[in-house]
Order: sequence, then C-alpha cells, then structure tokens
Amino acid sequence: MNIILMGPPGAGKGTQAVLIVEETGVPHVSTGDMFREAVANGTPMGMEAKKYMDAGQLVPDEVTIGIVAERLAQADCARGFLLDGFPRTQRQAEALDRILHDLGRKVDLVLNIEVPTEVLVQRMTGRITCPNCKSVYHLVFQPPQQQGVCDRCGHALQQRSDDTAVETVRKRLEVYEAETSPLVDYYGRQGVLVTIDGQQGRDQVFSAIKAALGRNA
Ligand code: ADP
Ligand code: ADP
Ligand code: ZN
Repeated sequence: MNIILMGPPGAGKGTQAVLIVEETGVPHVSTGDMFREAVANGTPMGMEAKKYMDAGQLVPDEVTIGIVAERLAQADCARGFLLDGFPRTQRQAEALDRILHDLGRKVDLVLNIEVPTEVLVQRMTGRITCPNCKSVYHLVFQPPQQQGVCDRCGHALQQRSDDTAVETVRKRLEVYEAETSPLVDYYGRQGVLVTIDGQQGRDQVFSAIKAALGRNA
C-alpha cells in the first residue's frame, strides 16, 4: 500500500509514522529525516538543505524530488511505502505522480491530519526526538519515562534546531498554508483523501488511521 501522511508541521505525522510502520511493515520515507541525516553527515546536499531548514523554508523542489525518486526506486519500497513530509508543493505532487506512474504504481491513500494552529506551536516548541529510532516525544504531552532518554532504544533525545525559535516555527506554518495546504484539494479530487482529527490523543489518532487503512486495504 502506497500511503502519504499529510498535515502541518507538528500535526503528529512522525509520531503516527512509527506506529503505522509497526502495523503495516512498509518503510517510512521521511524527507525531513533524510535531510537531517544529510546535515548530520555533513554532505554537500545536507549543507545546502540546512540553510533552508533553519530559516523555516522549503528545500528547493529539484533537490527534494531527486532524493525521493531515488528512495522510492529502492527494493524495499516495492511492496509499498509511507511518505511523510512529501509532497509539500504542487510541483512535488505532480512529480510524485510521474515517478509512481513510471514504476507502474499510484498513491492509494492520503491521510490528512488536522490540528489547529495554536496547538501546533505548542507541539513543535516542546518536541524532543530520538535521532536513532525516530521516536517522537513532547516535554509535556508525551514525556519519556526517563528524562532525556528514548523509551524504545535508550538513545539520548534531542531538540531539533528548527523547533527552538518561535519565529521559525511560525514561518513553517505560513509556508504550509501557502504551499502545501492546496494539496488537500489535489488529493481530494483524486478520491484518495481521508481526514483525521489530530487533536485527539496519540492512540485515538492511531485508531482512526487504522480504520482508514482497513477500509482501503
Ligand atoms: P510532525 O511529524 O507532523 O511534525 P510530530 O509527530 O513530530 O509531528 O509531533 C509533534 C509534537 O507533538 C511532538 O512533540 C509529539 O510528541 C507531539 N504529539 C504528537 N501527536 C500528539 C497527540 N495526538 N497529542 C499530543 N501531542 C502529540
Ligand atoms: P515538520 O513536520 O516539523 O515540518 P519535517 O521533518 O517534515 O518537519 O521537515 C523539516 C524541514 O525539512 C522543513 O521545514 C523543510 O525545510 C525541509 N523539508 C522536509 N520535507 C521537505 C519537502 N518535501 N520539500 C521541501 N523541504 C522539505
Ligand atoms: Zn530511540
């Protein structure tokens, strides 16, 4: 099954992705994680991407589309994938349709997680993540059992540099409204969109997602 997780920054995509992967076994393809890995490894692409990420802006489409095309062509994506954080622009959505068409595939389901803006700012500024297993926590809403340590794998937790400044967080929300939110209609017209209320607790959100997966399996 070829699934896209959509929703503004802070909606809970990464949190749900870990659960969906556990449930379905499809690989998690997160452009944000791919960029952060490239930054951590100090690759030329990472150095370029970091400038945009730290400013709360989108990495240019050419770069982003290229890494996704490469990733989706890998063998482990043949039985399906979970795209998280891509597509984020109309150009990316159209490129994805072409990439999948060339692979003889299509988008089966788009899960659009909706959360009001005020809640998103609180979620992002309190977010802490595990760089090793990609588990997501929140200082208040979802604290780990032991402070600063990942429940799942024991690795030290980190705060993302683009979550520390409220201006960067707000900029990302503006960029989402302008560039990404129109894709909700794009996928609505394709008849693959399911809207999920992301203001519920993590487990209730996941139940709604499981129902959507069952309907479309
Ligand atoms: P995204 O990948 O969409 O940017 P994340 O999954 O990283 O979002 O979640 C953003 C923050 O909100 C994290 O700190 C996470 O722990 C918290 N969070 C995620 N889902 C919920 C929820 N249903 N209720 C409360 N907090 C949540
Ligand atoms: P969040 O869900 O909190 O916005 P992500 O991890 O998805 O965070 O993305 C972090 C940053 O990586 C974005 O602000 C952007 O700079 C870059 N990025 C991720 N995905 C894309 C994409 N599809 N197109 C352009 N830039 C992207
Ligand atoms: Zn971990």
